[in-house]
Amino acid sequence: MFSENQWIKIKAPATVANMVCGFDILGFAVNSPYDEMEMKWTTRAENEARITIINIDNYNLPTDPEKNVAGAALIAFLEEYEEKQKSSSPKIKFEVKINKLIKPGSGVGSSAASSAGAVVGANYLVGNIFSKDDLVRFAMNGEKLASGVKHADNIAPCIFGGVTLVRSIFPLEIIALPSPTLHVTIVHPQIEVRTSDARSILRQQVLLKDAIKQWGNIAGLVAGLMKSDYDLIGRSLEDVIIEPVRSILIPGFDDLKLACKKAGALGGGISGSGPSIFMLSKTKEIAIAVEKEMKQLYDGIGLPHHTYVTSINQTGVEIIE
Ligand code: ADP
Repeated sequence: MFSENQWIKIKAPATVANMVCGFDILGFAVNSPYDEMEMKWTTRAENEARITIINIDNYNLPTDPEKNVAGAALIAFLEEYEEKQKSSSPKIKFEVKINKLIKPGSGVGSSAASSAGAVVGANYLVGNIFSKDDLVRFAMNGEKLASGVKHADNIAPCIFGGVTLVRSIFPLEIIALPSPTLHVTIVHPQIEVRTSDARSILRQQVLLKDAIKQWGNIAGLVAGLMKSDYDLIGRSLEDVIIEPVRSILIPGFDDLKLACKKAGALGGGISGSGPSIFMLSKTKEIAIAVEKEMKQLYDGIGLPHHTYVTSINQTGVEIIE
């Protein structure tokens, strides 16, 4: 166990889910933005709360552990932790401070960062007794609270770092994929796309010819990442199933994508369920040129936005004592 009543600091990265063709299965972590958290454990008296959440940002997210995704993930963590403990061991409680730097609802895994950060922090405090797969399982309860379904396409890269493939949720099977250096440009247009809307407009059936294209692209992308073949990665960043439907919710999407590719981006698309859009590039210089195109386009149509030029984060949630 880490010392009682001693705060640790946690850095929980933003993540990009889907990675264009890998709807619900692929995702990667980025070096910025990230949430900052602090956590400590103390011995709990019989009637005391097991989890206390303190928000130190201005987003006014709930502090009730059952309504905050960090709390939902920690409830699942503590249930299994307490089952593992002998009945004579002291009961523990967690205090969590959250400084959210990833705007909720931006589509870059704001909820996943809180859920993943909380369980990685808790595991560190109790002596790292759970595996990363266990932590993903606990953290998915946070995603269930935020979006109604347990999904791991943001949680997995947030905990493992790098690019991850969620081959299966039940039973959970996560594969950490190698990747060459990739620079990432993200633009977050300041509009609201509700995850429920982004899901409800999707067609429930897929044509076989589209499915064949899509699995060709997914396999091509995974092979490209493993072989550090940038051209293959670029060619495989194509989505014939989800993007044509979802992109109608994001102003200027097609023009923006075209302009970014002209500026040298390998490719990219909607981050998670949007509204953020991401592009991958081989060099930082290209990633900066891509940012310029994004700004120009959204300035041109008068749409306020934020951009990030960053790279793939290979470590996932980090603990700083
Ligand atoms: P993102 O795609 O950026 O993760 P989501 O729409 O998945 O955004 O999640 C944000 C939703 O989760 C919001 O409705 C927010 O109120 C809720 N939520 C609850 N607790 C948190 C938290 N600690 N961090 C972020 N969002 C939270």
